[in-house]
Amino acid sequence: MINIVLFGPPGAGKGTQAEHLKEKYSLKHISTGDLFRYNIKNETELGKLAKSYMDKGALVPDEVTIKMLNAKVEEHLDSKGFIFDGFPRTKAQAQSLNELMESKDSQINAMVALEVPDEVLVERLLERGKTSGRKDDANEEVIRNRIKVYYNETEVLKEFYKKEDKYYGVDGVGSISEITNRISKVVDSL
Ligand code: AMP
Repeated sequence: MINIVLFGPPGAGKGTQAEHLKEKYSLKHISTGDLFRYNIKNETELGKLAKSYMDKGALVPDEVTIKMLNAKVEEHLDSKGFIFDGFPRTKAQAQSLNELMESKDSQINAMVALEVPDEVLVERLLERGKTSGRKDDANEEVIRNRIKVYYNETEVLKEFYKKEDKYYGVDGVGSISEITNRISKVVDSL
């Protein structure tokens, strides 16, 4: 299995790149944001809970997020590996992911972190908000809060994966295919 954590602030292009990489490497793409949005659309209890956090740009509690992620991984154990997009976002999530992978005699092979300046992120998200239908993309205050939450709660995970010698920073500014090529160089080297 090849398991990749695709990392970066909101608007870095994780979802877009995951779509390309999953085809290229036949990996299962798991986006916790997409899973929450699916639950919101279907008006599940999980969706109702997640929405109250997502609307503010805050993180959904670890316990709920980890449980949902673990269940999704269990469903796709026959795949060649996973691209985790938007997960982990906290140290507890990263530790839990390591434990999950170990329990499957597998591991996270790399964290690929897309690097994009903040002002480009805000611009991209506001632009995406015009068509994505995502409430959390339409409001600049919520966008800025999501970026703040990333720096306050999530960015520390770079250190977590650096310690494990699994951190790869990639320039996230450029055309979609340029960025896919940059990430592919990392994946091919694993
Ligand atoms: P995303 O689609 O990755 O931008 O996620 C959208 C929103 O879903 C985030 O702002 C959080 O409210 C929630 N979310 C997604 N993934 C996670 C996670 N791993 N931990 C906590 N909250 C999450």
